[in-house]
Amino acid sequence: MEKEFAPIANERDKNGPFTKEEAVNIMKKFKQIGVAFDPESAKALYAEDPVIYGIVSEEVGRVWASLLPLIGMTGLPAMFVPLASKQTQDRLMPKLEQAELIGCFAETEPEAGCDTSELKTTAQLEGEEYVINGAKTWISNASIADIAFVGAKDLGTGTETFFLLEKEVSPFDTNELHKLGWKAAPTGEMFFEDCRVTKENEMSIMMSKALSDPELMKLLPISEGMMQLLSQLSPFTALMTLPRCSMALASIGIAQAAFEASIKHAKERIQFGKPIGKFQLIQEMLYRMNVLIETGRLLGYKAIEAIAKGSLEARRLSSMAKIYGGEAAVKVTYDALQIHGGLGLSDELPLERYYRDARMMTIPDGTSEMMKLITGYTILGRGYSAYT
Ligand SMILES: Cc1cc2nc3c(=O)[nH]c(=O)nc-3n(C[C@H](O)[C@H](O)[C@H](O)COP(=O)(O)OP(=O)(O)OC[C@H]3O[C@@H](n4cnc5c(N)ncnc54)[C@H](O)[C@@H]3O)c2cc1C
Repeated sequence: MEKEFAPIANERDKNGPFTKEEAVNIMKKFKQIGVAFDPESAKALYAEDPVIYGIVSEEVGRVWASLLPLIGMTGLPAMFVPLASKQTQDRLMPKLEQAELIGCFAETEPEAGCDTSELKTTAQLEGEEYVINGAKTWISNASIADIAFVGAKDLGTGTETFFLLEKEVSPFDTNELHKLGWKAAPTGEMFFEDCRVTKENEMSIMMSKALSDPELMKLLPISEGMMQLLSQLSPFTALMTLPRCSMALASIGIAQAAFEASIKHAKERIQFGKPIGKFQLIQEMLYRMNVLIETGRLLGYKAIEAIAKGSLEARRLSSMAKIYGGEAAVKVTYDALQIHGGLGLSDELPLERYYRDARMMTIPDGTSEMMKLITGYTILGRGYSAYT
């Protein structure tokens, strides 16, 4: 991260979303250190020891948060490639091995944000294919994704399911959205108009294929702990625990970068004849920043430990860690700008980028409010959900 990305992050981030070519070059660099989504690398990253994914998230957050969605959102659709139809596998596996595939996870819709039960995207089975119609919004990597894992209501069963789509075979349109932070990360709308996908790429069909074939099951990057969670929680609830820890620890990474810059500045900047670090009000800010970081980090890794053990605590801890980490990053970057004075507001330093990127962390992958409601429900138990 220091060698490849720290030198370019600030300037490149200002120029807006990555092109497809840039994104692939980045993925290839990550592949060199084992952060990739071919079955072997994905297993090492997600399954052997989930702490590794936590460390990767923290370091990516520390150097360049715009890289997070590129990595985070490619992982889920990539996991399903070995379970898809033979034709899909033949086309995609070589590209996956070469780290040339960019993926996205498309759930959110204009009328279905926190309330994902309101999905309007539909899937109608016609012979051997599903026909998908609808629109998605706020989807990371939408404009550059080769593969998409798309949520839709199956009109036959009336239930929500997901489909693995290849853009080349099942084309869809996209539109870029612009936002406060993560400036280099593409985020967009997606439009599906009579988009056809083989029924073999529907989630429950892919899952039953895996469950009936131990060899195929071995290819999935699922830790023993996650397996236990999957047997006790809904698949979505279980699988979301790890991305929430990732967001929590990436937030702590952003906060760490802002904190380190603040320590340096507090020692170097002289006012009233002494380094500003000698003033008690500056030290108070450093204390506050440090305690938020230490606490958020402990909570993030405690949640990861719960996932590794397959403990049901993982749901509560990962939700709390996501709230705490995101909000800690907002507070820490606020203080970091204050310590830097006017320089903190200048785009010559990465401080204002940290501040904007930190503000992004409390919304995607579950807003702080929804995370609080999940925490409340998991504390109180069955019958206490505030939103269903
Ligand atoms: C940069 C970015 C990247 C994203 N990437 C993806 C992606 O890759 N894939 C994807 O599917 N989605 C993605 N999202 C969407 C994200 O998950 C949603 O924005 C999020 O779930 C909130 O939905 P919403 O924006 O429609 O807000 P709304 O649901 O409209 O919520 C608005 C406010 O109301 C609050 N609220 C809603 N319901 C309740 C309740 N019951 N109790 C208390 N408060 C409530 C919310 O917490 C929030 O503060 C991304 C979003 C952003 C900003």
